[in-house]
Amino acid sequence: MKKISFLRAATGVVLCHFSALALALDPLSYARYDQVKTSDLHMDLKADFAKKTLSGYAVLSLEWIDKSARTLDLDTRDLSISKIEALGARGAWTRVPFTLDKLDTEKGQALHIALASQPAKVRIHYHTAPSASALQWLDPVQTMSGKRPFMFSQSESIDARSWVPVQDTPAVRFTYSARIDAPKGLRVVMSANNDAKSSGKGGWRFKMPQAIPSYLLAIGIGELEVRSLGPRTGVYAEPKRIEAAAYEFADTEKMVSAAESLYGPYRWGRYDMLVLPPSFPIGGMENPRLTFLTPTMIAGDRSLVDLIAHELAHSWSGNLVTNASWKHFWLNEGFTTYVTTRILESLYGPEVADMNLQVEQEEMMTSLASIAPAKQALLARGDDTSSEAYADEGIVYPKGAWLLRTLEQRAGRAVFDPFLRGWFDQHAFQSVTTEQFLDYLRKNLLAQHPAVMSEDELAEWIYGPGIPASAKHVASTRLAALDVKRTAWLKGELPTAQLGTKEWKAIEWMKFLNDIDGKASVAQLKDLDQAFGLGKTGNNEVAFRFYRAAINAGYRDIRAPLNAFLLSVGRQKFVVPLYTALRKNPEDKAWAEGVYKQARAHYHPLTQKSVDTQMAKK
Ligand SMILES: [Zn+2]
Repeated sequence: MKKISFLRAATGVVLCHFSALALALDPLSYARYDQVKTSDLHMDLKADFAKKTLSGYAVLSLEWIDKSARTLDLDTRDLSISKIEALGARGAWTRVPFTLDKLDTEKGQALHIALASQPAKVRIHYHTAPSASALQWLDPVQTMSGKRPFMFSQSESIDARSWVPVQDTPAVRFTYSARIDAPKGLRVVMSANNDAKSSGKGGWRFKMPQAIPSYLLAIGIGELEVRSLGPRTGVYAEPKRIEAAAYEFADTEKMVSAAESLYGPYRWGRYDMLVLPPSFPIGGMENPRLTFLTPTMIAGDRSLVDLIAHELAHSWSGNLVTNASWKHFWLNEGFTTYVTTRILESLYGPEVADMNLQVEQEEMMTSLASIAPAKQALLARGDDTSSEAYADEGIVYPKGAWLLRTLEQRAGRAVFDPFLRGWFDQHAFQSVTTEQFLDYLRKNLLAQHPAVMSEDELAEWIYGPGIPASAKHVASTRLAALDVKRTAWLKGELPTAQLGTKEWKAIEWMKFLNDIDGKASVAQLKDLDQAFGLGKTGNNEVAFRFYRAAINAGYRDIRAPLNAFLLSVGRQKFVVPLYTALRKNPEDKAWAEGVYKQARAHYHPLTQKSVDTQMAKK
């Protein structure tokens, strides 16, 4: 690390870098981290399930950069702040004045703390709002046992500020510790060291010795059991789900080893997972040391564990080497999507990896039709910091991975694998920009192998819409055979019983259902439903695609299971497209509005926001 900054200083690059930083502060944060940076956070909080609040205080340790600065600006949203103190030179806390700006609907409220000097620490006494955007407070009926409440956080990308006053930007990293009080009978877990043997007496204590950005702050509280999966892997889940979870995740330890042999040591100590209730708004969240997972990935047959591979991959791409602002999101997600396929290939072989990759590429190509060309770039050109300047969230995953795959195929793995590992090693625990990656790519790969990619083609990948014409599409032979069957089945030439589905993996069902969407008739969907009970499959990726095809065909016999699905699953990836499909037809639209009225209270605030937006569209 030292070597790199020294080199930069010697070439004079460091000067440009600093002046650029002043201009390029994260537009989604109020923090002035060019003046002062948080180096450590301590939280002492009490969880009150009756009031649905966390209350207590946060202590921020500060590293002052600008010697003239006398203000600390933090990000907050819906926090009630009662008192702020600064630590004096003699170790005494003194009250300091502060102001909160008017609420900005996207960014929240800037908190300005006025300081007479540059204290080493400030202490902020506060409580969260029941509507805190990062937190979901579940009533006992929303859990499996129905006996005790549950609470969990989702801080990425800018929601940590709704439960802790922080410099809420991925450009700032800090270590953290916490003491959390929770009602008896509940266990508290965090994205830190979790002591599986602790009873929580005197408060649950945590320490996170590796510096992380704020979006990786995470907490979960509920009736939780823990099972060990291997020497450094384990799973936390509700008691009724723990057996199923332990079975589903049996390969986790092997995955960690596979990733290590590709990209170097796992640097976070333990890799545990927390299975949440079904209202968790996303598939998984790579909270360090404790990945948060949707229970909808427990299919009973280990068919959806690519999600674990994805979250685990973030231990390198994202958590270790982090996008400096959300504009560079593809450095987190595109890299992770690429690494996921590599882990799957190591564990399950190239045929499985190729099938997954082909479906990922096809789904991306289909999605292009509904995304404005300007939003299809990995990175918007120029200094535009409005939300228009952000790439479509969905596209950066497969497109970023496709770029890395292209480089890998052309350079060969003997060159590309050490190149990528070097990127992680040389930027470990740093926040990075696209320009830094391009710089690294030119110096460490393209300079030696110029034929791999021209500057023009590289620019097309980064700043252009869609996928360059030169890109190679994955063509799995096993999926090609499936295409032949599907075509014959759609034409009525192949009976449903002769599809040969017994040997199909979940990914083949997903591909089949993607390809009949909008083409199969009501009678054909009914046939499938009766033959395979797709409306009741335990695999939610398959169920989702079946419901979508059924809605688009007008096959309404699925309403009962679809209703149950929409009421119990709150994952945005599933529910938003299903409501969208339902709203296309007036008869389905009225039905969907009725379902949503009932379902809304069960959804996470982030899911509610997405569906509300969808429902408000004309
Ligand atoms: Zn991810």
